[in-house]
Amino acid sequence: MTEQRAFRPETLTVIAGRPPHDVDEPLNVPVHLASTYVAGGSREYGRFVNPSWTAFEDALGALEGGRCVSFASGIAAIGAVLDLVPVGGVVVAPRHSYTGTVGLLSDLESRGLIRAVYVDIADTTAVAAACKGAALLWIESPTNPALEVADLPAITAAAHAAGARVAVDNTFATPLLQRPLESGADFSVHSATKYIAGHSDVLMGAVITANDDDATAITGRRTLGGAIPSPLDAFLALRGLRTLHVRLERAEQNAQELVRRLDGHPALAEVRYPGFGAIVSIVVAGADDAAAADAADAVVSRTHLWVHATSLGGVESTLERRRRWPAEAPTIPAGLVRLSVGLEHIDDLSADLLDALG
Ligand SMILES: *Cc1c(COP(=O)(O)O)cnc(C)c1O
Repeated sequence: MTEQRAFRPETLTVIAGRPPHDVDEPLNVPVHLASTYVAGGSREYGRFVNPSWTAFEDALGALEGGRCVSFASGIAAIGAVLDLVPVGGVVVAPRHSYTGTVGLLSDLESRGLIRAVYVDIADTTAVAAACKGAALLWIESPTNPALEVADLPAITAAAHAAGARVAVDNTFATPLLQRPLESGADFSVHSATKYIAGHSDVLMGAVITANDDDATAITGRRTLGGAIPSPLDAFLALRGLRTLHVRLERAEQNAQELVRRLDGHPALAEVRYPGFGAIVSIVVAGADDAAAADAADAVVSRTHLWVHATSLGGVESTLERRRRWPAEAPTIPAGLVRLSVGLEHIDDLSADLLDALG
């Protein structure tokens, strides 16, 4: 892996996690279907390790600059990091985190295991103040779906100065646009379901850390919790990762052009875009929340090319009014529609959306 660090990310996505170039060997690590291995080696049992996981982990670890541990889903990866918080510990988190993260924090809090403190993650001073006495600062940047951006190096340093560990949900940015470990974070976490796998057919998660003790602790959570990925899913996620740089480049180009074309649209109260990546949140205008929600639902129902679906980061463009979920934060505008901009031609994408906006 050390020699691979010299390569650019675009090269690493293609070459990392491959077998040695030996005659007659396959270019890709195959799907290893095995629950048990002949005793006496380093593998022993299928809940501990799998060569198809390892290939994926080597590739994502190389991109993030750390050791990667893969999980059955993004939420399982998040849960593994939260499991490291000592009982009674304070977790500082963005008020607009992914709803599953807030759900998990609330569940842990309701059972007396942690205490959650929510902050505006873009407010560096407030985050730093909240970190005093905290065990963990959980960061999402950009946030889902508000698209607020955190000052990663500044709040990471403030958290460390206060004695807190730092984890970053890097799902929206991917390691090609943001490398949290280089900003000093202890953990980078992914829903690999999204951009990493990239084709809306796999659920997987990952935790990457630069620290060997942390990697061992996270692996321990996976072994004891049992939230292991399937070997086929790991194979598919790695196949998806191979084209991450190409997919992301096109999706980002499309998103930036779409933002230009939506600018000032009379049906929209707001277009939110953090300036990078391929998630755009539009706020459909309405006289009040109910009217905005109805207008946004009507837009979503009128698209033909854009698929009405939750989740994001696939090759196909999807959209969803986030407040249709009762668990979404009430501070998210009722008319906010999250767009996951995919790889279709921009003219087709913008025409379909502009038609739906009326
Ligand atoms: C989807 C998502 C998750 C959860 O991942 P799953 O793979 O669905 O379990 C976590 N964080 C963010 C930002 C997400 O978008």
